[in-house]
Amino acid sequence: MFQFEQARLGHPGQAVFENLTLHIARGEQVALLGPSGSGKSTLLAALREQQADSVAWCPQSADLVPMLSVFHNIYMGALDRQHSLTNLRNLIWPTRAQKHAIGELADSLGLTDKLFTSVDRLSGGQAQRVALGRAIYSQRQVLLADEPVSSVDEHHGLTLLQQLLGRHDTAVVALHDRSLALQCCSRVIGLRDGIIALDAPCQSLTLADLDALYQ
Ligand code: ADP
Ligand code: MG
Repeated sequence: MFQFEQARLGHPGQAVFENLTLHIARGEQVALLGPSGSGKSTLLAALREQQADSVAWCPQSADLVPMLSVFHNIYMGALDRQHSLTNLRNLIWPTRAQKHAIGELADSLGLTDKLFTSVDRLSGGQAQRVALGRAIYSQRQVLLADEPVSSVDEHHGLTLLQQLLGRHDTAVVALHDRSLALQCCSRVIGLRDGIIALDAPCQSLTLADLDALYQ
C-alpha cells in the first residue's frame, strides 16, 4: 500500500530521512513512535502524498473551521463525495438524515449535545474528537493520524483510538503514548535521528523496548 525505496524525505533545505526504505501493506495498523523532531509528521505527510485519494487524514493540529459547528466540521470530511452545490445546500439546510448520521457519530465520540456548538467554544480534547469525527466521516480506507488523542485523557484516548482504528483497515498513527501503541496497533515503527530504529510486530515488544527509543 505504501512503499519507499531509499527515499530522501524532508523539507526544503532540510532532509529528515536521507535513505528511507519502508513498506506498509494493506491491513496493517502501524504506530509511529519516536522523540519530538524525529520525523513522524514528515513521514505521515509523505505517506499521504502516496495515496491522497484513499486517505482519511487527521492532522496534528485539529485544523477545524473555528466559526462553524461540530456538525459542519464533521461534514467537511465528506465534501468530495458530493457536488459543490449539494454541499452548499447541505451545509445551510442539513437534511434530517445527515443530522442523524453525524449526530450519532458525534455522540459516539463523546460530543453529545455539542452538535451545533461552534468549535471555537470547545476544549482542546473536544476539538480533537471533532477532528476524529471528520476523518471517520470521510469514509476512506486508510487512516493517517498525527497524535490524534494527545489532548484527551488516557482512558478516553484508548477507547477513541480503538474506535478510530476499527473504522479503517489500514492505519498509520503517530503516537506519544507507548502503551496505547502496544494495545491498539499491530506493528511499531520507531524513528530516531532520521532512521527507522525499530520496526517490529507489537506482540514481540515490551514497553521497555519502546522506552529505549527515547533514551
Ligand atoms: P515529529 O513529528 O516527530 O515531531 P517532524 O516531522 O515534525 O517531527 O520534524 C522532523 C524534522 O523536520 C525536525 O527537525 C523539524 O524541525 C523539521 N521540520 C518539520 N517541519 C518543517 C518545515 N515545515 N520546514 C522545515 N523543517 C521542518
Ligand atoms: Mg509531529
